[in-house]
Amino acid sequence: MRIVCPTCRKVIEDAPDDFEARPFCSMRCKLADLSNWLNEAYKVSRPVDETDLE
Ligand SMILES: [Zn+2]
Repeated sequence: MRIVCPTCRKVIEDAPDDFEARPFCSMRCKLADLSNWLNEAYKVSRPVDETDLE
């Protein structure tokens, strides 16, 4: 199957159906996405500070 990683946009043309990290290219990207999601969930509890963007 074809995978387009939501984290880094890498394309894997021939990933196996049971590829453990899908829809990501690797467990690294999977964990990065999860940590981003957790960060976003945390941020909504307080105002966004401009220094966060740096
Ligand atoms: Zn990736």
